[in-house]
Amino acid sequence: MPVKNRFAELLPEITAWRRDLHENPEILFETHRTSAIVADKLKEFGCDEIVTGIGRTGVVGIIKGKSDKSGKVVGLRADMDALPIHEQTGLEYKSKTDGAMHACGHDGHTAMLLGAAKYLAETRNFDGTVVVIFQPAEEGGGGGREMCEDGMMDRWNIQEVYGMHNWPGHEVGSFAIRPGAFFAATDQFDITIEGLGGHAAKPHQTVDSVVVAAHVVTALQTIASRNADPVDQVVVSVTSIESSSKAFNVIAQRVQLKGTVRTMSKGMRDQAETRLKAICEGTAATFGATAEVTYYRGYPCMVNHEEQTEFAADVAKSVSGDCDDAPLVMGGEDFAFMLEERPGAYILVGNGDSADVHNPHYNFNDDAIPAGCSWWAEIVEKRMPAA
Ligand SMILES: [Zn+2]
Ligand SMILES: [Zn+2]
Repeated sequence: MPVKNRFAELLPEITAWRRDLHENPEILFETHRTSAIVADKLKEFGCDEIVTGIGRTGVVGIIKGKSDKSGKVVGLRADMDALPIHEQTGLEYKSKTDGAMHACGHDGHTAMLLGAAKYLAETRNFDGTVVVIFQPAEEGGGGGREMCEDGMMDRWNIQEVYGMHNWPGHEVGSFAIRPGAFFAATDQFDITIEGLGGHAAKPHQTVDSVVVAAHVVTALQTIASRNADPVDQVVVSVTSIESSSKAFNVIAQRVQLKGTVRTMSKGMRDQAETRLKAICEGTAATFGATAEVTYYRGYPCMVNHEEQTEFAADVAKSVSGDCDDAPLVMGGEDFAFMLEERPGAYILVGNGDSADVHNPHYNFNDDAIPAGCSWWAEIVEKRMPAA
């Protein structure tokens, strides 16, 4: 079964929704307009239950199939938030809000899941229940985590969850997926190195925190090169160095470093955190300074479950004829929290030859809509076949 005809019919309507969302981007949990539109549309489609305010501005819709002999409940999740980027596409429907832009295609994700919800509420050609999940704050705010913390999975007895993201550079409407670890755990750190400031001509009377910081940055490279098993993935990037001295002739009392750690397994994540702290403290002590490390755990590694991944790939093949093997992605994905609570899978849908996500020239490709919507609908109709 290729792309469903109904989605070819609905394409102009879904595209109009998508472009309206694109024109009105909202960041993190501030998706008030978007959430209201989603809730209104779900109501208009005739969903059986619509609940707002899950995970602050998240929206959940329930669609019951023609029958419920299976007792199955499948969750389908889209993200709604935009990024703090100044759009440079020059599109007719470009962002009306300066400094906010749908540069990750979440406008497309929201529109595609709305399209699928409309079709599923019309046809109800399945045996079980669908929960459509619209989350805010995927871009660093942990909206998915907050929806889980609000008890979403248990409240609706969700048994499996599926997610989808567009993928620039991959043929439009074609799919790619991988089982197991897929997106990285994304952690952050702050390091404060405290030395002893003084006159730049009298270094012997100081503990130069800039020199200590330089050694720390260099030593941190050994987490990846000397501590990690070479077959494991780990990235440690120091992205900011700020000295307390702004003068050419004053040795700094203090230096502050910031950065990120990306890993693909719990073991590697724990090891990176332990080594980062030990290296900072040990290196600082070597030079008579101190280092204080604050390590923030962000999104966990997003792990696709084997069986659901195989199923998701089969559905993708039935929609677009093929499903490619996706590469590991060192970026983070908030859907990881949902996959920690329930088995499921996350798939990539090609966005064609576009600028990369998070780029001010990026745009979601509306030609991916029929394939994306069809994948959602087929996930439901194949996982919970009509009795
Ligand atoms: Zn993004
Ligand atoms: Zn995204």
